[in-house]
Amino acid sequence: MKTIVNFSILFFFFNCIMAQTEIYSIQSSIPIEMLFQDGKSKALILSYDDGKIQDRQLVALLNKYKLIGTFHLNSNKLGTNDYLSKSEIKDLYIGHEVSCHTFNHPGLSTLSFIDIVYEVIEDRKELERLMNYPIRGMAYPFGNNNEFVIDVVKELGIEYARTVDDTYNFKIPENFLKWHPTIHQFSKAFWKPNDAANDNIELASFYKTINDFLETKELALLDVWGHSWEMGTDQVKWAETENFFKMIANNPSIHYTTQIDLVDYINSYKNLKFSVDKKIVYNPSAKTIFFKFNGKIFSVLAGETTVLSL
Ligand SMILES: [Zn+2]
Repeated sequence: MKTIVNFSILFFFFNCIMAQTEIYSIQSSIPIEMLFQDGKSKALILSYDDGKIQDRQLVALLNKYKLIGTFHLNSNKLGTNDYLSKSEIKDLYIGHEVSCHTFNHPGLSTLSFIDIVYEVIEDRKELERLMNYPIRGMAYPFGNNNEFVIDVVKELGIEYARTVDDTYNFKIPENFLKWHPTIHQFSKAFWKPNDAANDNIELASFYKTINDFLETKELALLDVWGHSWEMGTDQVKWAETENFFKMIANNPSIHYTTQIDLVDYINSYKNLKFSVDKKIVYNPSAKTIFFKFNGKIFSVLAGETTVLSL
């Protein structure tokens, strides 16, 4: 009797294991691929640091081409020397994102815990007072970070943090707090003064990356970073900036976005609730989410449950 019972139990577990294996293989055989807003396969982030007065010219140029920027500011520097004034930033950056770049722009990896907290929290508080919305992202000053810094900024409510380590690819970062951009604007052109030969090589490499992005059929994120002060008063560099903006503007396959909006979108996509057989999906977020499922494009409205007709 005892032996028979044991066999029954073994048979029961054997069936459970087989059933789980089968269900797992069904789920994994259905490809679900995120698309960006409005079902677009490409997204563009333009990310500029420091908040110096040349941002006025840069924002005017972005607005002219209906492009969207993300601006990382040091609030304790605003109103000094060649930085923007505190009173102008709310109007200047309408339609763009203002984000943290620390209070005073120190390299964070050599600072103590309390000094990192001070630099991030004071910047967040002042930018939130000036912009009147929660400041949730940042760029590390000099791109400087380590695991300790990343842990601290995460605890301070920062949801993404950009480095300066160019990837030259179009992948969505796995760790938003170690957000490596695609490429510096114009790559390394103009880094050395009066070196036209080097400038031409770097510009060619920069525009090759931009063209690769424009031509790819894959899901692709282009994240270009830089500073308006790099253009300074040099009309050649501003003309080059306009040339770049013309290339990437008004493209129906590109979703133009701030960095924090993209973070919210991806998090909302990850939070979709699928039924076991993947045929029913609930979107608990406030954003309409788009994805490709078995080769077809679907959207799920904010707060809605949708049955997917395959
Ligand atoms: Zn900076």
